[in-house]
Parts: sequence; C-alpha cells; structure tokens
Amino acid sequence: MKRAGRALEIECRACGKRALARAEPVYEGFRKTGERFICTACGHRYDSREATPFVADTRRPQIFTADDRETAPRIFSDSERRRCCAYCAHRVVNPFDQRCGLDNREVEATDLCEHFEPLPEEPAQTGEATPPDDDPLARIFGD
Ligand SMILES: [Zn+2]
Repeated sequence: MKRAGRALEIECRACGKRALARAEPVYEGFRKTGERFICTACGHRYDSREATPFVADTRRPQIFTADDRETAPRIFSDSERRRCCAYCAHRVVNPFDQRCGLDNREVEATDLCEHFEPLPEEPAQTGEATPPDDDPLARIFGD
C-alpha cells in the first residue's frame, strides 16, 4: 500500500500529536493562491506550508531514492529465476491461488524452492500430430 500521507505528517503544535495534515487549497476567486494544512487529529489550521510543522523527512529516510531505483540489481538472476515456482513442475495453478503440488502449500510464482523441478520440456514438434489422413482436403481430392 502506498503511504499517501508520509509527506503530510505533522507534529501538531495545537494538540501536540503526530498526525497527518490534510491539504486544502486556498482560492482567491478562481485562482489557487496557496495551500492550507489541517491537522486531522484536532482540526487546527495552518495557513501555509511554511507555517505547518511537518515532521522532518530525515527521521525516516526513504528506503529507495530515485538513484537507487536505477542502479538496483535485478531481483532474480537467471539461475534463480529458473528455480521459481512459476517454472516448477510441481506448481498447481487454480483460479484462487497457486500451490505447490508436493506439500499443498500456497506459493507465489516468484518463490524459490528447494524442491524445485523444472517444467518438462515442451513436446517437440513431430509430424505425428497431424497425420495426412486427418486432412479432410486430402480425403476429398486424393493425392
Ligand atoms: Zn492537532
């Protein structure tokens, strides 16, 4: 879930609580001239962003910055990906969940598992699937 209110967390001077502030646009006529912030705990209004006692961001640094996101390693290396439940012969998928056929445990497609067994190879295409006798046109027109 997205933390919608993180940037709007305040240490309210009116009620002394740490609470979320609700932003409220201030209009002059039809023009938005600023923002007011209202403490959701006590309803105290702060008339501008500057006047609002926002909790400093440094106390809870973001785990990922934009820079990290670009250089972040891929979650799975290729060898790991091949051990995911998504690629496992034991995975049983139904409309409600997906389970490991070995122990009936609910799994995620991205789970890694020590009982992993690769899916069987796709059957090779041979001529057997469509014997010539099954071709209705061949029967009608002969050879
Ligand atoms: Zn308050």
